[in-house]
Amino acid sequence: MANIIDGKALAEQIRNSIKQKVAKLKKKPGLAVVMVGEHPASKVYVNFKAKACEEVGFHSEEHKLPEDATEARVLQVIDQLNRDTNIHGILVQLPLPKHINEKNIQAAVSPSKDVDGFHPYNEGRLLIGDPTFIPCTPKGIIKLINSTGMQILGKNVAIVGKSNIVGKPISILLLNMGATITVCHRETKDLGGMTRQADILIVAAGKPGLISAEMVKEHAIVIDVGVNRVNDKVVGDVDFETVKEKAGFITPVPGGVGPMTIACLLENTLEAYERMEERKS
Ligand code: NAP
Repeated sequence: MANIIDGKALAEQIRNSIKQKVAKLKKKPGLAVVMVGEHPASKVYVNFKAKACEEVGFHSEEHKLPEDATEARVLQVIDQLNRDTNIHGILVQLPLPKHINEKNIQAAVSPSKDVDGFHPYNEGRLLIGDPTFIPCTPKGIIKLINSTGMQILGKNVAIVGKSNIVGKPISILLLNMGATITVCHRETKDLGGMTRQADILIVAAGKPGLISAEMVKEHAIVIDVGVNRVNDKVVGDVDFETVKEKAGFITPVPGGVGPMTIACLLENTLEAYERMEERKS
């Protein structure tokens, strides 16, 4: 029976440590969230983020634009936030409406305020192993793996999913930490054959029940990033009940990666604040 990795408790420790640091600061770190349209899941995430900011003592702002806002209007808001000295981190909530080019928007955020780590400059820094901001979900995943005490160096890692926000950055981070990486996607032949080789299995596909016990190596660490709503219940991509009998460690959904993503967003905002305020002094 696997040890359950308690992402909720780990995230709380991180938030408490941030809260203590913020209490000693003269000025509050500020996070601005830009949201375009009325995506229901995004609304929930934005509320979580605002609550988390309030809890640690950050200043937070929500900039809500209508679904039909033009790309020029979104760029205008980002430009204002780039110049606002009370804002240290800017996050553009994804997904954006189809008529807006996501990459143009991400490239408009000042790299020094890009707490999501999605600006091409910050993506490049991550690739060469000298990251400025590590994207929040991958950063949280590394902390969850480290909390097990297992060394990453030399391990076989399988990652299911190759998105720009989870699969690709986590694969690069772990590669730069000395693991051997297999990245799987929809075109991968024999997914189970790949995942069974993995000492560490990370699943970010958005497909409930994708990973069953027979696809998992005995005693592996299993990190389930998926968030899926099934019959009014939130579940991951891993069949938790059967996989927990075989894995060494497993993250639950909810209560695994999700709270760590938000804690890492706060951590990145504090880092942005420290760099900006240090530059001034
Ligand atoms: P995404 O952009 O939709 O990418 C999904 C990836 O999974 C793609 O690379 C896709 O392959 C692959 N995939 C889908 N079905 C597959 C299958 N049957 N076999 C193998 N590969 C498959 O998703 P994302 O944004 O990375 O998010 C993935 C999941 O994580 C979602 O459930 C999302 O809600 C969740 N998520 C959670 C957090 C958190 O903080 N907890 C943060 C971000 C995302 P192709 O490239 O071949 O299409």
